[in-house]
Amino acid sequence: MRIEQPGVLRPVQLPEPSPGPGQLLVRVHACGVCRTDLHLLDGEVDIPNPPVTPGHQIVGVVLEVGERTAETDGLMPEPGARVGIPWLGWTCGRCRYCLSGRENLCELARFTGRDIDGGFAELAVADARYCFALPGDYSNLQAAPLLCAGVIGYRALLMTGDAERLGLYGFGSAAHIIAQVARFQGRRVFAFTRPGDHSTQAFARRLGVEWAGDSSGSPPEPLDAAIIFASAGELVPAALRVLAKGGIVVCAGIHMSDIPAFPYELLWEERSVCSVANLTREDARELLELAPRVPVDIQVSRYALADAHTALEDLRVGRFSGSAVIDLGLE
Ligand SMILES: [Zn+2]
Ligand SMILES: [Zn+2]
Repeated sequence: MRIEQPGVLRPVQLPEPSPGPGQLLVRVHACGVCRTDLHLLDGEVDIPNPPVTPGHQIVGVVLEVGERTAETDGLMPEPGARVGIPWLGWTCGRCRYCLSGRENLCELARFTGRDIDGGFAELAVADARYCFALPGDYSNLQAAPLLCAGVIGYRALLMTGDAERLGLYGFGSAAHIIAQVARFQGRRVFAFTRPGDHSTQAFARRLGVEWAGDSSGSPPEPLDAAIIFASAGELVPAALRVLAKGGIVVCAGIHMSDIPAFPYELLWEERSVCSVANLTREDARELLELAPRVPVDIQVSRYALADAHTALEDLRVGRFSGSAVIDLGLE
């Protein structure tokens, strides 16, 4: 399934790719659907060289291993190994960000499903250095959402430091994973949904959040941090409004509508607002190690590859709870 131009996602038959030096050819078994895929389709996040195959939460099996290189020697899995392929597809290793432990901000980074063909396909090619072994406790379908919703959600959670009272705005794929991780860490979790979305609020409560309500409302007490997974800019002042002194708002999406002006009073008393961009491989290793210990339970809605468009539209309107995953085993 290729994004050819904004709004156009179409099935295309392509020749089988082959792995270059240091790369793996992977038979895709499952690929998670992310809000970023929707932003790419809508043209809200630019695709430098369309067309491209979206999908950056890929679980598959190695079919073929490219030539070993000095950099990938020892990192190349054997054919038959199960691997996960995330959004971070390649970094330069030389820029100021790569050299300071912030490869997520690499000047020349290439991303799966945007710069490199992704997992809305039967086959994918990936640089072995950016692929991960996956915890055996998870099926292909359940493992897929860990690769972006889980990992980038985890990076956002790290940004909140040791905040005890944590608000999650937008209770979708990432929040339903991170709520479980946060509770495991002993935090108190408060879930905010679109006003009147009682079924998602009930879903959040089933996952053990202490309180769930409308994003326009107030929790029973002030919060120490809020992570915004939704793409609505008006949630930034809304979240600041319910923060305790010194609290932080972390914006975890790649795109957000404009943030409306708000009185300085909302930021005063050492409140802060920041964003999280992409992931580092260290974030992925930590989350993939942590998830089975929680253990994070992932609620999956399955879609056939031919129905990728339906999956994205269902995501847009919030038609399912948890994560949407393309199941390449579905006909
Ligand atoms: Zn994503
Ligand atoms: Zn770099």
